[in-house]
Amino acid sequence: EGMTILELAKRCGESIPTMQSILVNVGEKVDSEFDPLGIDIAELVAMEVGVNVRRLHSDEGTNVLPRSPVVTVMGHVDHGKTSLLDALRQTSVAAKEAGGITQHLGAFVVGMQSGASITFLDTPGHAAFSAMRARGAAITDIVVLVVAADDGVMPQTLEAMSHAKEAGVPMVAAINKCDKPTANPERVRLQLAAEGLLLEEMGGDVQVVEVSAINKIGLDKLEEALLLQAELMDLKARNDGPAQAYVVEARLDRGRGPLATAIVKAGTLVSGQFVVVGAEWGRIRAIRDTAGKMTNFARPAMPIEIEGLKGLPMAGDDIIVVHSEERARMLSEGRKKKRERDRLRKLEKEKREKEKEEEIEGEEEEEEELEAPELGDQRGGGKRRRKERRKLQEKENKPKRPELPIVVKADVQGTVEAVVDALKGLNSPQLPVFVVHVGVGPISQSDIDMAEACSACIVGFNVRNPPSSISLAATQAGVKIKLHRVIYHLLEDIGNLIVEKAPGTF
Ligand code: GDP
Repeated sequence: EGMTILELAKRCGESIPTMQSILVNVGEKVDSEFDPLGIDIAELVAMEVGVNVRRLHSDEGTNVLPRSPVVTVMGHVDHGKTSLLDALRQTSVAAKEAGGITQHLGAFVVGMQSGASITFLDTPGHAAFSAMRARGAAITDIVVLVVAADDGVMPQTLEAMSHAKEAGVPMVAAINKCDKPTANPERVRLQLAAEGLLLEEMGGDVQVVEVSAINKIGLDKLEEALLLQAELMDLKARNDGPAQAYVVEARLDRGRGPLATAIVKAGTLVSGQFVVVGAEWGRIRAIRDTAGKMTNFARPAMPIEIEGLKGLPMAGDDIIVVHSEERARMLSEGRKKKRERDRLRKLEKEKREKEKEEEIEGEEEEEEELEAPELGDQRGGGKRRRKERRKLQEKENKPKRPELPIVVKADVQGTVEAVVDALKGLNSPQLPVFVVHVGVGPISQSDIDMAEACSACIVGFNVRNPPSSISLAATQAGVKIKLHRVIYHLLEDIGNLIVEKAPGTF
């Protein structure tokens, strides 16, 4: 709080009159450029001129307390990330309270006898981690790097390592499947060391734990290692004051509307507060813990499910508390506008880049023609040929670069957009996702026709299982239908498809 118009104008690189006119437009009274602006207003004005704002909360002089670590599990496909999370989840607080039955909420908490606890993000994989990071959500404190003892370090192991390194997040290595007769944990250790991981046993600070997710061996050792790592990091958070939180996962419930699993980063989130979540807003109607119990407030590192949002937020979106509905609406509208502007700008940039590439390709072709015997009208010839080729491609409906065509169907428009955005976030340079068609409602014959024509697969999000006639038609057309209700599962699924089709991308 407390930035003046003068400071804001300087930081945004805009003139004071521009700032003042924006302020008047958003209905804020301005007397002098030395008047301090509230943080919400400052953000709104900055967004209007296209400047990104990151809120920094000062922890000084407040109630700063130790907090639990938030852990993400990463590693190569099939090395046992899901199994490990399943095994850990069974020891979670929620599982104990609910008699072993748990629902996937995006996060869970494991409590230790000592009273300490660990929060696990319940979504394995790099897509999730990257999506969060792309939104500037530094939620993860520690990465568990899962490596199968019988398979060793693989491409996605290396990728997980570089993700963690780039984000500055320390790792704990879990050598999994140690129950297998073919397990060779020593070899994995050497491989990890060869990749530059400074293992504890070799004088470094990366702890290594041997586990078996299937036989539930070594889980306590892993948890101990995580707590030790957390202790070294001296994790702390401000416990009072307005909450700052992040969305881990969001879904639409038919009865309760948009629900978001969130983790509070600092402060206390209180039921009844007005919040802005990414580009959405709402008033918190209910807060539930991972066991589904209602609670009135949430403290740092505590995963919760919040109800009362007007729209579906995205993973990695930040949650901020504002003091009125009006402010919440205003900020959400501002952010929506900004997202739309950013999206259009990005589209335009992509289009320009594509055109440039085609131009270069065209020129290369012209050069080839120069070497050809007839040196007639090279320029025109090149262009004509380019045009012809493009037409041919259009006719054959065959992209010249490999793409992953996808048809997206979802229950409501907001979800369609969220899914398309999430899929775009997956874009690998080798195999970009190409959304050929989107729609609201159940999967229909015309979706299958469309998918067949483009060799696309259909992604159904929050839609009913299609009737058997539709499933049959899809099978006959060779069209794959993928149904999901959790965005991360969808991303994992499509991510795996990309890996399958273009190995070495993720
Ligand atoms: P993810 O792709 O990394 O999430 O891997 P999964 O958890 O799906 O596991 C892949 C396969 O390895 C499954 O068939 C699991 O049953 C198996 N698996 C996972 N953990 C272990 C383990 O500790 N021991 C053995 N023997 N198999 C395991």
